[in-house]
Amino acid sequence: MFRLPSPLERLDDERLAGLRVFVKRDDLIHPDFPGNKWRKLKYNLPPARSTVLTFGGAYSSHLRATAAAGRHFGFKTVGVVRGEERLPLNPVLSAAVADGMALTYVSRSTYRLGASPGLLSDLTARYGDFHLIPEGGANDAGRRGCAELVDEIDEPFDVICCSVGTGTTLAGIAGRLKPSQRAIGYAAIKGHRPHPDVEPGFHFGGYAKRTAELDAFIADFRERHGITLDWVYEAKMMYGIVAQAGRFPPGATLIAVIA
Ligand SMILES: *Cc1c(COP(=O)(O)O)cnc(C)c1O
Repeated sequence: MFRLPSPLERLDDERLAGLRVFVKRDDLIHPDFPGNKWRKLKYNLPPARSTVLTFGGAYSSHLRATAAAGRHFGFKTVGVVRGEERLPLNPVLSAAVADGMALTYVSRSTYRLGASPGLLSDLTARYGDFHLIPEGGANDAGRRGCAELVDEIDEPFDVICCSVGTGTTLAGIAGRLKPSQRAIGYAAIKGHRPHPDVEPGFHFGGYAKRTAELDAFIADFRERHGITLDWVYEAKMMYGIVAQAGRFPPGATLIAVIA
């Protein structure tokens, strides 16, 4: 069962006093589609019985979600994984395989070249024709799915915040705002290229890196609000929002997307 629209919940946090804050609970959309991954897949899904091929790292939620979509909607899935095979499979890849995904591995250097003609013809020889979804669902269809998150919000708001991996979610949201509204992304990766809408200072060492300070923030947030923030993305955003609460205009209504 998909929980859409995802719930919008008021967040009362004394550290954000003077702001009206809501959390958009995209983390509750569906247990098989962590975070925003359902939104990014929705318009990328092929007809039933075809094959989808996509890319990701060994801990990619996008691979996991694509495999789940294949099982739910009846198409085949192939995951091209960055790096060497490690056995036993980690929980993310085991779940993908349990959902019927075929995995194939490419070296980091090949992976970096992306969907090159050589790699694509190799993969076609092996798996037949397929429908290609880029890593992270980062394309127009992915952005279109994420834009729907904005349409679901029935409170007038001034600022909407989300975390940034590929930036697909931020781009989808930003494209749907009124001129008076603003989107702010919090980079979960180190070295995000400078962008007026992206706050680069809260990556805590880089993608999938964590610190004791971030862990303490997560534990405290759970205690205060009963919400367990995902440490790869959402905790970094929320930490940034709290740390820089003063950047928001007093009295503003803020939406924090917890994907
Ligand atoms: C994948 C993911 C993101 C990153 O989204 P992008 O569109 O790639 O920027 C953020 N939060 C969660 C929980 C995710 O799973």
